[in-house]
Amino acid sequence: MNFTPTEEQLAVQKTAREFAQNEVLPKAAEIDREHRHPAELVKRMAELGFLGIAIPETYGGSGFDHVSYALAMEEISRACASTGVIMSVNNSLVCDPIYRFGTEAQKKEWLTPLASGKLLGCFALSEPEAGSDAAAQKTTAEKQSDGTWILQGTKNWITNGPVADVCVLFTMNDKAAGHKGITAFILPMKTKGVRCGTPDEKLGIRGSKSSQIFLDDVRLPADALLGEVGGGFKIAMSTLDGGRIGIAAQALGIARAALEDSLAYAQQRRTFGKAIVQHQAIAFKLADMATEIDAARLLTLRAAYLKDHKQPYGKEAAMAKLYASDVANRAAREAIQIFGGNGYVTEYPVERHFRDAKITEIYEGTSEIQRLVIAGHLAKGG
Ligand SMILES: Cc1cc2nc3c(=O)[nH]c(=O)nc-3n(C[C@H](O)[C@H](O)[C@H](O)COP(=O)(O)OP(=O)(O)OC[C@H]3O[C@@H](n4cnc5c(N)ncnc54)[C@H](O)[C@@H]3O)c2cc1C
Repeated sequence: MNFTPTEEQLAVQKTAREFAQNEVLPKAAEIDREHRHPAELVKRMAELGFLGIAIPETYGGSGFDHVSYALAMEEISRACASTGVIMSVNNSLVCDPIYRFGTEAQKKEWLTPLASGKLLGCFALSEPEAGSDAAAQKTTAEKQSDGTWILQGTKNWITNGPVADVCVLFTMNDKAAGHKGITAFILPMKTKGVRCGTPDEKLGIRGSKSSQIFLDDVRLPADALLGEVGGGFKIAMSTLDGGRIGIAAQALGIARAALEDSLAYAQQRRTFGKAIVQHQAIAFKLADMATEIDAARLLTLRAAYLKDHKQPYGKEAAMAKLYASDVANRAAREAIQIFGGNGYVTEYPVERHFRDAKITEIYEGTSEIQRLVIAGHLAKGG
């Protein structure tokens, strides 16, 4: 593995950093405070090619690799974790499975506008009673004699749901077959019978709109099927493997925000006649944060590199997400400590990092589920 980024990867990182610093960061506090979907930033990400970074240009993407994707995700999430997850879902959870499992016609109809950012996507696997236990799907898909499908059910906490144009949706079409009875569809959100609930009121990532999606007698044509009948669970699990690289990079961005904000604060805040960074107790916190962030980045880039080189990466992506999300939470907690009273008030950014960090331990598989995934690979000798 080469530790030197390519010219192309550096260029993507630079573009993302400048966009994040100049356009995203100045709005991050307001997006959080107002619980506002940052439509204008999503539009800019489309212009910059950030909504389909690793999708080939022939399908509307930017044609870069997953290392570039992880680098860009870190930069954007460093400025605003809400904007980061909007980008991550469209790239990892929507474009990626349509690219890997869609027909040529589906790629032309859906992937091209999604990867170029003309449309925004969401991914609906979770249900009120099927989160970690994703195979316990209750949403049904029944095939009709004319080949169309009728869908019924409720999806929960779907990121981008209220603002999405298209959904990669998972349903149960054969309960007796267990996880082999799960089937995926591409669902246009304007289809009759599709309705989003009120956006979730959340602890953090408040600019990311998530909600329930209600499916009431939704009729889809045969060509809305993504992959094979009964192949949905494989699509979902392999998609989440890739998604975890994006969430690890999001966590990394939040952790870096906590470190950079803390370092700047510790250099100017004075107690007992010196800058607090000169108190060893504070300096050691910063040293630990920086070390853990570097380790998390190496795990994340390794997983992305393996995906780019078509090598198995499920275990490595789970390790990256598990560790990076832990680091983000620890770094954000320590950042509040370094800021003291100012860390606890909304005038300063670190309480936002603290609230944003928590979700990275929950979505796309909780930390407990990451450990199960890693242990499963170990048991198989992987
Ligand atoms: C803001 C937000 C955005 C989300 N976005 C999406 C989205 O876009 N699409 C989507 O499909 N889903 C989304 N989710 C759902 C998310 O993926 C689930 O919340 C998550 O997978 C956990 O499922 P659960 O909430 O049902 O918890 P549960 O599965 O009920 O788990 C509860 C607790 O038990 C633990 N646990 C469960 N099973 C085990 C086990 N076998 N061993 C050890 N511990 C276990 C869990 O780790 C957790 O600590 C989102 C959730 C949130 C909060």
